[in-house]
Amino acid sequence: MKTLEKPVPPGGTIGIIGGGQLGRMLSLAAARLGLKTCIYNDTSDAPAFQVTQNAIAAPYDDLNMLASFADACDAVTFEFENLPAHAIAHLAERVPVRPGAHALAMTQDRLTEKTFVEKLGLKTAPFFDVTSAEQARAVFARLNSQNGFKGILKTRRFGYDGKGQAKVSSADDTAKAFESFKGAPSILEGFVDFSYEVSVVAARGADGAFAAYDPPHNEHENHILRRSTVPSQLTPVQVSEAKAIAKKIADALDYVGVLAVELFVCKDGTLLVNEIAPRVHNSGHWTIEACQCSQFEQHIRAVVGWPLGNPVRHADAVMENIIGAEADAWEALARGGALHLYGKKESRPGRKMGHVTRLKGQK
Ligand code: AMP
Repeated sequence: MKTLEKPVPPGGTIGIIGGGQLGRMLSLAAARLGLKTCIYNDTSDAPAFQVTQNAIAAPYDDLNMLASFADACDAVTFEFENLPAHAIAHLAERVPVRPGAHALAMTQDRLTEKTFVEKLGLKTAPFFDVTSAEQARAVFARLNSQNGFKGILKTRRFGYDGKGQAKVSSADDTAKAFESFKGAPSILEGFVDFSYEVSVVAARGADGAFAAYDPPHNEHENHILRRSTVPSQLTPVQVSEAKAIAKKIADALDYVGVLAVELFVCKDGTLLVNEIAPRVHNSGHWTIEACQCSQFEQHIRAVVGWPLGNPVRHADAVMENIIGAEADAWEALARGGALHLYGKKESRPGRKMGHVTRLKGQK
């Protein structure tokens, strides 16, 4: 496995796997620091291709193309976490990969991820391994006999924006949901009647330095993030607790780069870990305008071995996603707030087309 012996100097090239909006904003942040990017995406119309010096369009399991990509880069990172494990290992033999294969493997699978979180002594919703429709039925029935159980069945892998998830309130529901996932290994999670959701976006450097942003309050619509607001209603003690959770996870993974930890805030104030994203995160987009160093710059700094930037927040902020046809109103959107459009040709329902950040109470 290749490691980074010394920081990549300005003029160096960072490889980014995935050419969506996250890759695009990473590339823009790299450019500001005098670094180049090479973006690898499986289709040629990637939003990030519009803002990079080098682009490769090839399948994510094309080992020859991945090797050429690795050879063109000083370090490689990801904008999405679902690259096949053997492809990551192949890359890591040729070029430093940050975050490493271990962190990606741990967070690609909900069962592995939640087991890891639990072993760290952190709290999660109750979860149970489900591998067949009969077992799905039996697990639900067992839990339901205790206390009017309600749950969510989630596929262990490849779920995002509510895909591969179903709310279930009977043993039959659970078996049917499992079948609708075509028998994909899943977990049955207890449904949490939380007050609201927050996330901690944080960075860890190769030297163990840690920098966390203020946790935003996140609101979802149709399983897609609608709005992130900072500050959230968390108390100062809860903010420290949330950041400490992210630090514990980042340290245990020997993580390098930005990660996001999504948390449920329960009615009694308890924080439950829902999910870890081993990458920059939609709920951190407001950091571009409201913080000294954005999540994108922070990630680039960590990947190339530079000192982490200051995550201090100089304004309150609300970030709203522009979803699907909402982007048609770009002229009106351009009148208020900081507008980001991702350069996607077509607006499909549920597709993230851009976002707007509005600052308040600038300090
Ligand atoms: P996830 O894909 O795990 O991030 O879940 C997407 C969204 O579904 C979360 O942001 C929550 O709003 C909701 N959700 C997920 N798991 C649970 C749960 N165990 N209880 C209640 N709501 C949940």
